[in-house]
Amino acid sequence: MRCVSRRYCERVRQLDIRTLQRQRSLSPSTTTIIEWQMGGAVHLQAEFERIRLRYRLDGQPIEQRINLAETRVRYGRRAWFGCPSCGRRCAKLFLRARFACRICAKVYYECQSATPQRRVELRFLKLRQRLQDVYGEIRRPKWMRRARFKVMRDEVSRLEYLAGYTLMIDETNNNDGDAR
Ligand SMILES: [Zn+2]
Repeated sequence: MRCVSRRYCERVRQLDIRTLQRQRSLSPSTTTIIEWQMGGAVHLQAEFERIRLRYRLDGQPIEQRINLAETRVRYGRRAWFGCPSCGRRCAKLFLRARFACRICAKVYYECQSATPQRRVELRFLKLRQRLQDVYGEIRRPKWMRRARFKVMRDEVSRLEYLAGYTLMIDETNNNDGDAR
């Protein structure tokens, strides 16, 4: 497999929302300075439902605001970045011209077909395909039992997070049949 002149995730400065959440950098009025081993740093200031990033790129000071989103999962809530370029939800942002999702930043995983990351992506896409309707939203197919749907939906959500992917979930449908 050829992986030529691609920018691999491992060599690109990135922000992972799970790490930021774990170290409580997303609580409003928190300021965090993130430094990368390869050099460079970003000043992160958390505001209500968004973060403000300040950094230098080729000597130029840049300020970027990133919206945050939350989704409900079985065991609580999950935070996401809203990609400033395409608006999709993502768990990681990559720095090239600006911070953006993996797709917008055109960053690839090394030997994509073989990595555990890629396997997660493929499982996610396959499962999602079984559940999605014509609009690409997750819905329970008429023939599927609610309990089965819930298990599959949670699995999609988990894989989505692992893959750092994005998908639209119909929240109304999510609560469909919930006894809570
Ligand atoms: Zn994007």
